[in-house]
Amino acid sequence: MLNSTKVWLVTGGSRGIGQAIVQRALCGGDRVAVLARNPEKVSNENSLSLAADVCDENQLRAAVEQVITVWGRIDVVVNNAGLHRGGKASRLDLKDWEAVLDTNLSGALKVIRTAEPHLKQDASIVNIGAVVGFRGFPGDAAYASSKAGLAGLTRALSIEFAERGIRVNLVIPGLVLTDMTSSLSEKAMESMRNMIPLGRLGETKEIADVVHAVASASYMTGAFIPVDGGLMSTFGLPG
Ligand code: NAP
Repeated sequence: MLNSTKVWLVTGGSRGIGQAIVQRALCGGDRVAVLARNPEKVSNENSLSLAADVCDENQLRAAVEQVITVWGRIDVVVNNAGLHRGGKASRLDLKDWEAVLDTNLSGALKVIRTAEPHLKQDASIVNIGAVVGFRGFPGDAAYASSKAGLAGLTRALSIEFAERGIRVNLVIPGLVLTDMTSSLSEKAMESMRNMIPLGRLGETKEIADVVHAVASASYMTGAFIPVDGGLMSTFGLPG
């Protein structure tokens, strides 16, 4: 194996933004392990399907072991798997709250802890945040809390891992049409579109291009990088 090619582990790589991240890495000649609960079964020289739930540490251990057995290392971890469940706090089912926190926040920590022993100097972790982690939207308490937590986790780990040369950053997509957002009404979509300075939704590829750049940015860690058509600028960058 050429040393210049990287080995990626992308959670939630089977659809939407994650799938675009996988495609971008493959286009750059890298090798990618695609982790999801129900990934398409593709196994070839450059890609590996891993059926695992980010909430389940046993499944994660088996998945990571498979990557190490096949490719011997992991250079980039992308915590992209995500779940959205809405509902105002007063009516939000606690099961929904827990499912969102378990997937988006605890799941990311479990993935990082499982992969960490295999990460070497210059490895990179990219967490996928969300604008609502920084800006309040009513009815989004669970999702917003999980993504705000992920921002905190990113900064804490960027310091913890710095002495080993491992970088940890947060890419913050704006509104992108995927399975996750497909149930938004046209009216809600229109009002959100009106808030975006660039006046349009993002494309999955536009997010993936930035994730790819961040993964190899050798002097960047603990950074929050919005890719949101300017949405964050309408209320200030995260501090
Ligand atoms: P999506 O189309 O709904 O895809 C979600 C992906 O995560 C799928 O591959 C899904 O595969 C996987 N997944 C979900 N739960 C999982 C679990 N417990 N274990 C393992 N894999 C799991 O979502 P998306 O819109 O591409 O979002 C990707 C990321 O971007 C998420 O973190 C989301 O919060 C963030 N984001 C999205 C937007 C947007 O506008 N779309 C905006 C900001 C941030 P399986 O169902 O097979 O497990």
